[in-house]
Amino acid sequence: MTTGTAQPLKPLSLKKDGDGLRIEWNDGATTFAPFRALRKSCPCASCTEDVGKPIDPFRVLSAQEAAAGAPVPVGMKPVGFYAYQITWNDGHDTGIYPIELLRSLGENVSPR
Ligand SMILES: [Zn+2]
Repeated sequence: MTTGTAQPLKPLSLKKDGDGLRIEWNDGATTFAPFRALRKSCPCASCTEDVGKPIDPFRVLSAQEAAAGAPVPVGMKPVGFYAYQITWNDGHDTGIYPIELLRSLGENVSPR
C-alpha cells in the first residue's frame, strides 16, 4: 500500500460552458459535466430520498420547476476543501457536491 505523496484531487478552475460545467483539475484533466446530470445527481437528503420511489410518468412539474426550465446553477461555493454547494435556478440549494462526484459526473474533454 502506498500512501501520502499523491496530491488530493482538486479543481483548479470551474467555468460555466454552455449547458454544463467545465472543470480543470490539478492532475491535468479537463471534464465537462452537463448541468442536467449534476442536478439529477444532487446528493442532498431530499433528492436522494426520491430515488427509491417509483417515477410517476404523469407527474406535473411544480410551478417553480416549469418556470425554471433547464437546470442552471446560479451559484457555486466551496465547502471546505472537499465539496461545492450548488444553488440552482429552481431555488434548490441544499446539494453539497463532493469533489469526487463532480469529477465522476464529468466527461473527460482533455485536449489530446
Ligand atoms: Zn437536492
